[in-house]
Amino acid sequence: MVAAQPEAASTATRTAYEPVIGLEVHVQLKTRSKMFCGCERDYFEAEPNSHVCSVCLGMPGMLPVINEQAVAFTILAGLALGCDIPAHSKFDRKNYPYPDLVKGYQISQYDQPLCLGGTLEIEADGVTRSVQIERIHLEEDTARLLHREGANGDSYSLIDVNRSGVPLMELVTRPDMHSAAEAMAFLRTLRQVLRYVGVSDADMEKGSFRCDANVSLRPVGTTTLGNKVEVKNMNSFRAVGRALEFEIERQARVLSEGGRVAQETRGYIDATGATVSQRSKEEAHDYRYFPEPDLPPLETSRVTVEELRGHLPELPAAKRERFVAQYGLTPDEARQLVETRAGAEAFEQTVALAGPAHARDVAHWLIGDVTRLLGTLGEPDAELTDSKLTPAHIAELVGLVGQRAITAATAKEVLQAAFESGEMPAAIVDARGLRQINDDAEIDRVAAEVIDANPQAVADYRGGKEAAVKFLVGQVMRAMRGRADPNGAAEALLRRLQS
Ligand code: ADP
Ligand code: ZN
Ligand code: MG
Repeated sequence: MVAAQPEAASTATRTAYEPVIGLEVHVQLKTRSKMFCGCERDYFEAEPNSHVCSVCLGMPGMLPVINEQAVAFTILAGLALGCDIPAHSKFDRKNYPYPDLVKGYQISQYDQPLCLGGTLEIEADGVTRSVQIERIHLEEDTARLLHREGANGDSYSLIDVNRSGVPLMELVTRPDMHSAAEAMAFLRTLRQVLRYVGVSDADMEKGSFRCDANVSLRPVGTTTLGNKVEVKNMNSFRAVGRALEFEIERQARVLSEGGRVAQETRGYIDATGATVSQRSKEEAHDYRYFPEPDLPPLETSRVTVEELRGHLPELPAAKRERFVAQYGLTPDEARQLVETRAGAEAFEQTVALAGPAHARDVAHWLIGDVTRLLGTLGEPDAELTDSKLTPAHIAELVGLVGQRAITAATAKEVLQAAFESGEMPAAIVDARGLRQINDDAEIDRVAAEVIDANPQAVADYRGGKEAAVKFLVGQVMRAMRGRADPNGAAEALLRRLQS
């Protein structure tokens, strides 16, 4: 069944309803082996069905063994998100027939997950707020079906079992977000925290971070939840945003026409930005959950919890606040520097070399020119360590500018050269003869020449056009190949023009 593209609900209609959104996020954990067997977990670009054994192939009689690292990673993620870690937890069987589920059931968790509650602070549309988390549980991923079409038009499916049994953490939020922007901010912030903690690559494009979005509308000012629709199939943050915007419009229209929103699962179609009905919730499966008989219950001692807590790194929000307090950065500068853990570390290593007095200069170089240069590497998330630049390069560059050994304009040229060759800034400056000229007599001599050579600009200045000085400063800089301090050049010019 294909739903028609909804016409946009009028703004008045749209604002009569409050969207309510809850997310279910599946995260593949970056363990060495799979959840219940010894197969290598990382199947990226591996030959199909090359990371398999009788356990993850679902052979009868095979016994699962719990991957302790996956349990520890889930608890670490829970602690980073302020969850409670109950002392008792267990695995359950979730039964359903589907070709990607090799055993006919998935080992998951039902009523006693590893993590309960928790919050994540997000910022959307300039407002900061806490989103409530319901739970985090641990389960195994399924195999992958590849749908193909044969030469004669018949369709068939191939199965790749490499993904079967990969540790999968599922985080469920409360229905606690109210716009597509909030949902996207939640996902971005969650990905950042999980990467900081180091439990997952959390890469939506590669399928290690997947999200189903539940959305309903209710009249503004009411509290009862409306009928919800679950939207699947988004494989980028942008897709989640578009899918939610579409659903909010569609539901607003249905409700404003006096209709009832059907409780159903819908699939997002990237080509059109639309969602289409997949199955009604009335046909919902009965999963016949029961405790997994082949696995012991999970007991988590308080000692273990505290030990794991001790392994948590400083998280982005805390790091941001510390950077503001310790280095005198603006909140926005700090936010940009803590975007990734590696980026924040590069900043602090550079400040350690350059000296704390230069912290803001270091921040400006990293946020500005260095980020721009890293962007030219063609990798989406390139870090300093992916380039020939090191903290020592940046610190030396900042030092040279600070000592007035080079001008800001020269520094940009030096950084570019260092980025390309990996040579140290001081060596580049010496090899190219780029040292700043701080000899006042020399600057004054060039200023005099420039004034003689530009009578029109001088007349403009004397006629009241102050901006003419800028032009003259530019001429001095050019004559000195960027090696003069522009302020010094302006002073020398003004001394002569005003005398
Ligand atoms: P189900 O039984 O359909 O799986 P759950 O109660 O387990 O529903 O919730 C699944 C997800 O849907 C959670 O993220 C939850 O926050 C969200 N959710 C539940 N009810 C609503 C609603 N009325 N509107 C929006 N989201 C909802
Ligand atoms: Zn296996
Ligand atoms: Mg549910």
